[in-house]
Amino acid sequence: MPNNLASKNSILSDLEHLVEGEVSTTEEDLAAVSKDFGGMIQKRPQVVVRPQSSLDVANAVKYAAAQGLIISSKAAGHSCSGQSLNQDGILLDMRTLNQIHEFCLDDLWFKVDSGTTWRKIVDASLPQGVVPPVLTNNFDVTIGGTHSAGGLGQNSFLYGSQADNCLGLEVVTATGELVWCTPEENSELFNHVLCGYGQFGIMTKIQHRLKRYRPFTRTYFLRYDDLDALLQDERLLVSEKRADGLLTLFSPCVLGASRAGGNGFKPLIQWFYRMQLTVETDSPDDVNEEKLLSDLKFARHVHTEDLNFDKFVQPIAEVPHPVGEANPWLDVFLPASVAQEFIEIALERIPTFVDFRSTPVGGFCLASNSIKMPMFPMPSEEFVIGFGMYPTVPKPRLQPVAEQLNRLTELAFEMGAKRYMGSWLELDLPGWRHQFGEYWGQVNEMKQKYDPQGILSPGFFQYEEAALSRQQAQPLGEAVAEPQTTVA
Ligand SMILES: Cc1cc2nc3c(=O)[nH]c(=O)nc-3n(C[C@H](O)[C@H](O)[C@H](O)COP(=O)(O)OP(=O)(O)OC[C@H]3O[C@@H](n4cnc5c(N)ncnc54)[C@H](O)[C@@H]3O)c2cc1C
Repeated sequence: MPNNLASKNSILSDLEHLVEGEVSTTEEDLAAVSKDFGGMIQKRPQVVVRPQSSLDVANAVKYAAAQGLIISSKAAGHSCSGQSLNQDGILLDMRTLNQIHEFCLDDLWFKVDSGTTWRKIVDASLPQGVVPPVLTNNFDVTIGGTHSAGGLGQNSFLYGSQADNCLGLEVVTATGELVWCTPEENSELFNHVLCGYGQFGIMTKIQHRLKRYRPFTRTYFLRYDDLDALLQDERLLVSEKRADGLLTLFSPCVLGASRAGGNGFKPLIQWFYRMQLTVETDSPDDVNEEKLLSDLKFARHVHTEDLNFDKFVQPIAEVPHPVGEANPWLDVFLPASVAQEFIEIALERIPTFVDFRSTPVGGFCLASNSIKMPMFPMPSEEFVIGFGMYPTVPKPRLQPVAEQLNRLTELAFEMGAKRYMGSWLELDLPGWRHQFGEYWGQVNEMKQKYDPQGILSPGFFQYEEAALSRQQAQPLGEAVAEPQTTVA
């Protein structure tokens, strides 16, 4: 339980005096912020604050610090492991901070409140001939939420994560101070709040890069039967910067069943790999197809799609937010040298624990030199393959699925891979050490430095004992104990 000095009613009335935005303790409002997209973790705060300004966030954090209450920032809630939730504390619903402040076309940047959705940003930018360099495939998330995770798109091998394209942040620190930070000014805070999951500060405003876009895109849909050929071609395309976007989707095909070995039938599954290779262009006629494709080793050129850029950037499908189901989504970043081995093992295992016909599986490419944020762990190799699988399972069937996914995570770690922390992640302390490797000591130091009371979003990260005990020694009391988590 948090070391709060105030009762629920006094927290409500105190906060009502301190912030201009809405403060609520109704059952309905608390229930609405107690879950996330994953549907697996449930935590209930005591109070929800819907800030109207950065000052509201600062006042709420100052109050939390004075009362020894935990506080977390929740945006669109699309993370899967309770990253934004908190038990018995104050929850800031950041979606009310959603104003666009400025588009600077001369210097190619924009500045918005952190709770602004990417949909709103893209809708405002496209008519001006500009676009943020990297877009995720879901626009209903917020800029603050993806800057907390990283934010990857199909061109991240060129431009890095969204966080890598951040130029400046207004941050509320754990003491309730409002600080402007950039890569040069207050850079340590800047570098840890980005991809920091609300652990080191709360972003209230974000300044972010823009790029001018070309009016058309051409996408080649190429089928590969051979994983090695696909991975080699991806490496070639990335190293030669031949593509403006690369995405792979893996499709299983049942080619019969075998009765050999054990009881019953074993489906014989052949996986096919579809690469979607996109180039941006001033005119589709300008694309030199021969130069682009002639040395690639695909089995079949399936389709060519020409689109206006503003249509191309839109997410392909709306993803439903299912009730009663769990989304243990897994993304792993593999050193290219082991990608084939890991993916083959994963594809072999997938049909044994999820419905492989309805589970999207795919891949993307990253380049270590374009991902620079220290809170975004990357494998040590230059070329990195992202592999994702996105199962939706009924909650009663979650446990065996989670066990298998955890085994895949362990295998990935053994092979030098890292996990994306914005989707589903269930790590114990040794797992966290693995995830951050040599940087783990620094993560603990930064936590002690920027959140010495441990009030910011506890529960998702597990820290070293030393970091926690120092937090407990703070004058305002026992550190806030980790909140209870329940499987919803
Ligand atoms: C359908 C779907 C598609 C997705 N596609 C992609 C994709 O293409 N690429 C990709 O990279 N990811 C993708 N994701 C993952 C998603 O982008 C991340 O989980 C992201 O963090 C969600 O943002 P959100 O606004 O929902 O934030 P939330 O889930 O509400 O919060 C996420 C984290 O950010 C913190 N946070 C939120 N706002 C702030 C703030 N203002 N200051 C400090 N911390 C804050 C929270 O405390 C929490 O730790 C996808 C997820 C889904 C469900």
